[in-house]
Amino acid sequence: MNIRTRLTLLFVLLVASIMLLFTVTVYYLYEQFRQQEFEQRLEDKAFTTVRLREDVGVVPQADLPVIVDEQVTIYNNRGVVIYNQNREKKPSPFRIPPDFLRKITLRQPQYIRSGDIEAVGVLHLNSRGESLFIIASGNDRYGFSKLVRLREILFSSWLLSLIIVGIAGYLFATDALRPVAELIAQVNSISATNIHERLRVGRQRDELADLARTFNALLTRLEEAFVLQKSFVSHASHELRTPLTVMMGQIEVTRLLARSNDEYEVSLDGLLDEVKSMIRLVNGLLELARASSDVATVHYQPVRIDELLWQAQSQLIQKKPEYQIDIDFDNLPHHEEELVIVGEESLLQTAFQNLMENGCKYSADGRVLVLISFERGQVQLTFSDHGYGIPATDLPHIFEPFYRSETTMTIKGHGIGLTLTQRIIELHKGQITVESVVGKGTTFRITLPIPYRSSDDLNAEYNTKKSDLKTDAGF
Ligand code: ADP
Repeated sequence: MNIRTRLTLLFVLLVASIMLLFTVTVYYLYEQFRQQEFEQRLEDKAFTTVRLREDVGVVPQADLPVIVDEQVTIYNNRGVVIYNQNREKKPSPFRIPPDFLRKITLRQPQYIRSGDIEAVGVLHLNSRGESLFIIASGNDRYGFSKLVRLREILFSSWLLSLIIVGIAGYLFATDALRPVAELIAQVNSISATNIHERLRVGRQRDELADLARTFNALLTRLEEAFVLQKSFVSHASHELRTPLTVMMGQIEVTRLLARSNDEYEVSLDGLLDEVKSMIRLVNGLLELARASSDVATVHYQPVRIDELLWQAQSQLIQKKPEYQIDIDFDNLPHHEEELVIVGEESLLQTAFQNLMENGCKYSADGRVLVLISFERGQVQLTFSDHGYGIPATDLPHIFEPFYRSETTMTIKGHGIGLTLTQRIIELHKGQITVESVVGKGTTFRITLPIPYRSSDDLNAEYNTKKSDLKTDAGF
């Protein structure tokens, strides 16, 4: 059921219930009024009859106002009928219960009803001091027929108003939901080809304008991701096509003439270099895809940070023996457990190797210094080199995929190492920052959380919180 139908139904139900309550109240009050009025008439009838009978001796039938099925019976104080006036000469429509007479007092006449016949019993003291009970009964045919008419009028006007309320509710809901329908139509018209388009917000400051604004913000984020994705794919294709073109050229040139064994060897070595570079790129892309996908695929476990760094160093030196990588402790932890972080070994090694390799690759001396230091609850690693440095204009972009500084274009690379490193550090809830001065060198700083808390740390944290509380309280 859509919102429009629900709103209409709710509206109709609400109005119908209120009107039904109103209708039933009117009917009930009118019925009460009719009964009281008829009771009064019967009482008057009873007293008039008894007084006429006492004063005049006879009751002149024609003079009295007529009540349908009218009957007046007078009992003496022993309950014996001393007078019975029955205009229609029909048998009494109902029997008066024996205790009915007993309940009648001077102050309180009694009322009884059986079907359409109603009766009123009153007490009268005659001039001789005798108590006479008069019971007048009759059928309030006109009152009842008015009641039936009223019931018909109320019911049909209730039904009619329901139809009107239904139509009005439907029109009202349609009108209220028109901006939503417009919004849906606008959203439906946006797809990958026109993702730059935005919803019209309008001048109103209502919830729908908020919704449109929120949706526009989402579209902006999606567009950014979309553009990034597109440029990523085109960059990746470009990076793969370049070595393939080089390889194809090299193969074609080699095949032009018959070559000596040495020449073939040189050519194959060149091809091998290109293939290795492509494998490095594809591996990097695969790792980036893994680090960017679902966090659940990462297998976190406790690992010692210093061991990871030693392993990264030895693996890199195996590949590039000319690199010089020094690892040192700035300060030593109080407890061995403070060396343990929670993370995935292979990913962290990739990140550390990237930074070590960059430090050596982008410096004339091929040296990098890794410093480990410990602060409360976290470990800090700095990778510093005395290399070429990164120009200030390039610094904000070096973590973007495939971004390479113009100054180091001659050095081989694909520009995805830092993107991958940043993603890995973020996956481990850490932070990475960079400082660089052209011609002087570059320092990458990584902070990673340590789950272990020594009692000194806990005390220090406790004291900090306590002093914060005191400051807040104004001590
Ligand atoms: P790659 O090294 O494969 O080009 P990276 O993503 O690791 O890709 O680095 C991106 C760019 O950042 C590099 O091309 C280089 O211009 C710059 N860069 C990274 N590390 C350093 C460094 N230690 N010294 C100078 N420039 C660096």
